[in-house]
Amino acid sequence: APRPAARNEVRADIHTLATPLVRLANEPYYHATGDEVEVFAAAAGSRLPVMLKGPTGCGKTRFVEHMAWRLKRPLVTVACHDDLTTADLVGRYLIVGDETVWMDGPLTAAVRAGAICYLDEIVEARKDTTVVIHPLTDSRRALPVEKRGEYIEAPPDFMLVISWNPGYQSVLKEMKPSTRQRFVALDFDYPQADTEARIVVHEGGVDADTAQKLVKLGGLTRKLKGAGLDEGAGTRLLVHAAQLIASGMAPATACTAAIARPLADEPDTRDALDDLIRAVF
Ligand code: ADP
Repeated sequence: APRPAARNEVRADIHTLATPLVRLANEPYYHATGDEVEVFAAAAGSRLPVMLKGPTGCGKTRFVEHMAWRLKRPLVTVACHDDLTTADLVGRYLIVGDETVWMDGPLTAAVRAGAICYLDEIVEARKDTTVVIHPLTDSRRALPVEKRGEYIEAPPDFMLVISWNPGYQSVLKEMKPSTRQRFVALDFDYPQADTEARIVVHEGGVDADTAQKLVKLGGLTRKLKGAGLDEGAGTRLLVHAAQLIASGMAPATACTAAIARPLADEPDTRDALDDLIRAVF
């Protein structure tokens, strides 16, 4: 039986907390850069979980959205952070009015619905949190919901997808072999220049010439990795700059605001980025 929650323990409007199960009606634009579509589809067919590795802003989230649309499965996305608890993923009892009601967390909701559950930046989550996915990633394909004494077997369409960025090189943020060896893994990286330019044209609404310059600038920032920057500009930042340019902003101003400033705080690194912008535009 549910433990009667203390007054004021959790007060919530249950409707605002329900997990959004996203059904994508229109094809999310995704430009494949290798055999990732085929590998993901095969993993889905074999009911294997998938891990997407790579730097931030290089298309992992868009790819999952695209695959959810292709496979006609609902999608549940969870942005992991260091406070993320097992209850945040699995569910908890809430007080609604005078009643105590159970609310599925996003992972449980995804399992029940036979959805794709995308845990973005999984290593950010607490270690004890990552353990709850283990029974879902082996032949059991089940989710024990301990607080409810429930053991949910995942339907065939349920699929677990995680992402992580090995580039940060933090010992604390390493993924344990016992976790990583459960997944089929796909490497993501910045797209080839001509592919990336096409993405920037499509997503940013700029002409090909401007897109090529943005891609060139992106490439130059990536060379600063380890020399002032933890990571260079991802495609996302190039798209942001393109959107500002398309709205009428001067290219150099747009690049400073959308690329240089988000990347760096150190005065030297900011100067270096400003020099790169002046050189390209
Ligand atoms: P990640 O999840 O790897 O951090 P996203 O998938 O959010 O990155 O990508 C950021 C943005 O870059 C997307 O919203 C999209 O506009 C663009 N993008 C990056 N790679 C691709 C790609 N291969 N095809 C289409 N759009 C892409």
